Amino acid sequence: MTQSDVLVIGSNMIDLITYIDRMPIEGETVEAPDFQMGFGGKGANQAVAAARLGSKVSFITMVGNDTFGQQQLANFKENQIDTTGVGTGTKSSGAAPIFVEPSSDNRILIIKGANNELTPAVLDQHVDLIKNAKIIVLQQEIPLETNYHAIDLANQFNVPVLLNPAPANKDLDINHVSNVNFFSPNETELATLTGMPTTNLTEIKQAAQHMVQMGVNNMIITLGSKGVLWVNKDTSDLIPAVKVKAVDTTGAGDSFIGSFAHYFAQGEAIPTALKHANQYAAITVTRQGTQKSYPTAAELASLVK
Ligand code: ADP
Repeated sequence: MTQSDVLVIGSNMIDLITYIDRMPIEGETVEAPDFQMGFGGKGANQAVAAARLGSKVSFITMVGNDTFGQQQLANFKENQIDTTGVGTGTKSSGAAPIFVEPSSDNRILIIKGANNELTPAVLDQHVDLIKNAKIIVLQQEIPLETNYHAIDLANQFNVPVLLNPAPANKDLDINHVSNVNFFSPNETELATLTGMPTTNLTEIKQAAQHMVQMGVNNMIITLGSKGVLWVNKDTSDLIPAVKVKAVDTTGAGDSFIGSFAHYFAQGEAIPTALKHANQYAAITVTRQGTQKSYPTAAELASLVK
């Protein structure tokens, strides 16, 4: 039996970051000045954030039977993530070719590959992991039916669920996910989910309250440099972000979700966990990169006095 603090069920991707002077036109070959590979995928990022903070993290995910898959597995292990739930699919590993222009404008392609093979049937092989977690964290880079099944299983065993509905998906059946403990979109995803405007704080609160009326226990809306809004049936609280000089906000949302899950699993009250997750995510935006910008608990202690 594997007991975990945080169980993440979700995606992993290899980011293929190509720095370009310009996009080639059709039929043209152009030399690009630089290239970097990075570990990504929302599920993997969130798992790594929680693990670096010291949570015992299990991860249910699918990699391809290829070198990217082997590298992902090695990266999970290096981050002390329990890999009992990591399976190998028949498709390629998930990959994201990213083209970054000198202006820092970027174009991203996502090949989900083996992530689409994380089906409800895969979860049935890991009921033990689901039953024995303190919190289950979900995003939307795997099939929606898998998330629905994860929520059903979690409810059956009374395990709290945090759903991060990113990237936004218009096909999401709100009724099937409305009884989660934590629903955490950003303001754009909230607009897609509710069909309501979210251009200012008043509108965002109204859209969040609408979700609470539908049955969500806690809405946690991340608002970038403004921080995070927490809404439930008794509360509507803005917890401000920490003021920092942001250099790269890629993966900030994932660092927030992963760290919040960690603090919640440690038994912190929601407002305290939100404050700590704001602190964690703020540090990650002051550093380049996605997973490599996520501090460990020891680093965090030296940075936050
Ligand atoms: P997403 O990338 O999912 O849109 P956000 O941009 O809302 O996520 O950021 C997630 C969290 O990261 C915020 O709630 C905040 O805690 C932190 N954060 C993001 N940008 C900044 C910033 N410029 N300064 C401080 N904290 C930030």
